[in-house]
Amino acid sequence: MGKRKSRSKAAPKKKVKLDDTFRCPFCNHGDSVECTILYKKSLGEAKCYVCSESYSTNVTPLTHPIDIYSEWIDACEAVNCHEDDDGADN
Ligand SMILES: [Zn+2]
Repeated sequence: MGKRKSRSKAAPKKKVKLDDTFRCPFCNHGDSVECTILYKKSLGEAKCYVCSESYSTNVTPLTHPIDIYSEWIDACEAVNCHEDDDGADN
């Protein structure tokens, strides 16, 4: 019986560069917002290094930087809608 050589699991480890920098909704600077996710604390933070605006939210292990960013955008739009709410009824 031939000895079986231990199979070398050569899974190609390709580094996937996830986009985690985004355009700032405040100063409109491209790629100035960096998202940090602290999975241990279930905390996600997006911060613009140009105007120092930041947003933090709760995350799950499935949350991606883009999720935090889009939540921030949603929050900004919600605020804008609120401020614009001066009589136009929908
Ligand atoms: Zn900014």
